[in-house]
Amino acid sequence: MNDSTVAKKQLVALKRKLDSAIESRSSLEDDFNLQSNLLIQFIGKLSQISKGIDIELDNRLAQLRTLFTKSAPISDIVEKISIISKLLQKHSLTNGKNIAHMHEQFNHAGESLQKINGLPDNLRRDLRALLTETKDSKDALIQYIPLLSKLLTFYDHALKSKNVTPTQGLLQQPIIATKIESSNKNDSIAFDVRILEKISASLSSLPLSIGHTNDLLAIKKKLLADQSSDEVLSHLIEIFDVIVADFRDEQSSAESFLTCLSATLTKVQSAVKETIASQKSSQLENDKINHKLQNQLTDMTGSVEKALSLNQVKEDIHEKLQCIASTLEQKSTFEQKNHQQLADKLNDMSAKVELLEKQSKVFEEKLADQQKKSMQDALTKLANRAAFDEFFAKAMVRFHHEPFELALVVIDIDDFKKINDTYGHTAGDKTLQVIANSIIKNVNKGVFVGRYGGEEFVLIYSKTNEEALTADLNLLNKYVTRLPFKFKSNKVSITLSIGATHIKSDDNIHTAFERADQAMYKAKKQGKNQVVYTK
Ligand code: GH3
Ligand code: MG
Ligand code: MG
Repeated sequence: MNDSTVAKKQLVALKRKLDSAIESRSSLEDDFNLQSNLLIQFIGKLSQISKGIDIELDNRLAQLRTLFTKSAPISDIVEKISIISKLLQKHSLTNGKNIAHMHEQFNHAGESLQKINGLPDNLRRDLRALLTETKDSKDALIQYIPLLSKLLTFYDHALKSKNVTPTQGLLQQPIIATKIESSNKNDSIAFDVRILEKISASLSSLPLSIGHTNDLLAIKKKLLADQSSDEVLSHLIEIFDVIVADFRDEQSSAESFLTCLSATLTKVQSAVKETIASQKSSQLENDKINHKLQNQLTDMTGSVEKALSLNQVKEDIHEKLQCIASTLEQKSTFEQKNHQQLADKLNDMSAKVELLEKQSKVFEEKLADQQKKSMQDALTKLANRAAFDEFFAKAMVRFHHEPFELALVVIDIDDFKKINDTYGHTAGDKTLQVIANSIIKNVNKGVFVGRYGGEEFVLIYSKTNEEALTADLNLLNKYVTRLPFKFKSNKVSITLSIGATHIKSDDNIHTAFERADQAMYKAKKQGKNQVVYTK
């Protein structure tokens, strides 16, 4: 083998090595390109996900992507990656803090909801399960999203169940409070049921005509049944319409009465004028006839004096007497006619006055009725608060003028709210009526009985000593306890808490009432269904 052959062989071997080196480099380049593309894509996705969390991180990731795209020196890339790592480390710490904060807030919100009275049992159970599930902190904020959604649903249910009365400061007692979520009542707000009941109680004391009172009762029922703001507002508008209509009726009835009165008075006035005028003219006529008679008589006397013979006198007198007789007849006819006219006029006038009297009576009755209504409670027909205030004030004046046994009693129905809540407002109304009638039935006629407001009644006793008073009240209490109330086929027993006191010489209206009221509260505190007398 010569040198050139060896050299050739070496060349071929070298070329093969070179080719293989080129091939493996190109495969390495392909791998590198593939991996850097993958990295670029990964950084792109990472940027998208973390976008908005931190502007600096956004910028650094964008720069890293550019470095990779430009195949920048590895030292630049390493530097960028180190900065980004530090940023990510910082975020990891913040995230941990956020998770701890979220965990604490979540549990606090859940526990606050648990403290709310009157939650439905199933809601309370589900809430307990949710809080047990989230006892330990989660690894990521995102894991709290479904839990929060559940908690929100519970809050929603809690708000929808009517009597939300939070004991802790989480939710303030609402006046207009609860958001109702349903397909057709999207933005409705529920009115506080207590306010609706107050409105309803005030409506009961409005003294309207029977027709309008019935309209009002119908709307009152609807008002208590619907509690979403839209419905309540439309009922309130209906109520105002009824009240306005009643005022208008009242006004037009008063106007028509006054118009009628004025017309009748005008007629009477003209009748009187006519009578006076006709009396004047008949006076003239009468004077004329009298004058004629006078002349005829004078004439007759003259003829007698002048007469020469008896025969002539006879003739003369006969003729003149005839004239006088006819004048007298004329006078009598005239007087008869005159009397008749006067009688007709008087009859006419008395008929008109009678009509006027009738109209006045109707109006007076109406006024008295209204006066009575304004002092009467529409639901129970007892005296209302205004009537009580007036009666008690007058009794106190009499007492201070000359002391006597004057006693004040405050009665409050026990757990009345439960009747409303369990059997409805109509059952509550009926109960109030039955209790009112029972009080009337059990006390003497001389006792003043009034509805002070809501489910509270007041009694004023005169000339009854402590022993007789408490005996009377205990009998009333027993009577009410035994009343066989039945709602929705459930037998219900209703009891009273009664407070009583006698007025003392240094009392005024307020101190006296306060003492009776305190006695009633003492009866409540001591277990209700009893009479407490305070000296
Ligand atoms: P307590 O034994 O402490 O007196 O409890 P209670 O439930 O009787 O007393 P509370 O003051 O909590 O509730 C009184 C209720 O009376 C509230 C109100 O809804 C109701 N109420 C007031 N006026 C009327 C009314 O005219 N008709 C009806 N149906 N309910 C009324
Ligand atoms: Mg009360
Ligand atoms: Mg009560």
